[in-house]
Amino acid sequence: MVRLKPDATKKVRLKPGTTTMVWAVAMTLASAQTPPADPLVRENATVKLSGHVYEIPDFNVGLVPNVGIVVGQRATLVVDTGLGRRNGEIIVREMNKVSRNADVYVVSTHFHPEHAGGEAGFPNGTLLIRNLVQQREMELHGKEMIDLFAGRSAQFKELLSDAAPRIPDITFDQEASLDLGGVKARLLWFGGAHTKGDQLVFVEPDRTLVSGDVVQNKIVPGIFRDGGTPSSWLAVLDKVAALNAQHVLPDHSAPGDGSLVILEKQFIGDLRSKALELKKQGVAVDDAGKRLEAEFKTKYPDWPAMNVSGFVRSIYAE
Ligand SMILES: [Zn+2]
Ligand SMILES: [Zn+2]
Repeated sequence: MVRLKPDATKKVRLKPGTTTMVWAVAMTLASAQTPPADPLVRENATVKLSGHVYEIPDFNVGLVPNVGIVVGQRATLVVDTGLGRRNGEIIVREMNKVSRNADVYVVSTHFHPEHAGGEAGFPNGTLLIRNLVQQREMELHGKEMIDLFAGRSAQFKELLSDAAPRIPDITFDQEASLDLGGVKARLLWFGGAHTKGDQLVFVEPDRTLVSGDVVQNKIVPGIFRDGGTPSSWLAVLDKVAALNAQHVLPDHSAPGDGSLVILEKQFIGDLRSKALELKKQGVAVDDAGKRLEAEFKTKYPDWPAMNVSGFVRSIYAE
């Protein structure tokens, strides 16, 4: 475990000149998918979630994630940077409305561009922290993901035109503890779930969990490519449950209380055992997806969408 204080962290910074890496974005014109009308972080929407934690909410459950801002007496931590520089700049403006701290840290819940693509919008001196697994994913697939997103529409392409993810100033293995002054942010890597490098933030004494895609509010989970596995996701959730969170701020759904963790575990466990049963009976994976979609629509009637086929495929494949 790494313990960091704002003053101490400066000593482990890499040389400033070496930290910026500009990624060329391929000019892909194809656009099959219709993007949200306005893929921008909301201005003047920031609300307080708990004693030290603010949220810039995304009510569209779209590509703009909820952004978390943790404010201490000495330093501030921002969780997620938005899709490209312009979104990063909006987040900085929102941060400045709730914090006057000069020391700013930034982390991303995972390496996908709507969560990590706005790093260039943050002022010089912002300290970027990533767990090593997430950093490895960023090195392997970060540019590929920016190209993929930029190909979705002209607007995304423009937003990501100078996307410049930085080499982190600080990396850690499983846990780093940030003393922000009167409030502690524990940065946690518990294993693979939505991606391999999903990073959780647990704020004490608020008991607020910024949960990324790992715990959502009535959103069917999705494993991106070779991210985690259904069982590694469940193992992560066991560790998350032990934190005993009181408030949960997910990526793309409304915040809630600690019961969201229990619900996520229950849903994945339930889907997994049902899918494994069908696999055992020799039911084809696509049929299993369709059957379970119908079954779970009835079982979890208040979930807005029940697109379980992707996760069922992940269960079959494990
Ligand atoms: Zn996302
Ligand atoms: Zn994602």
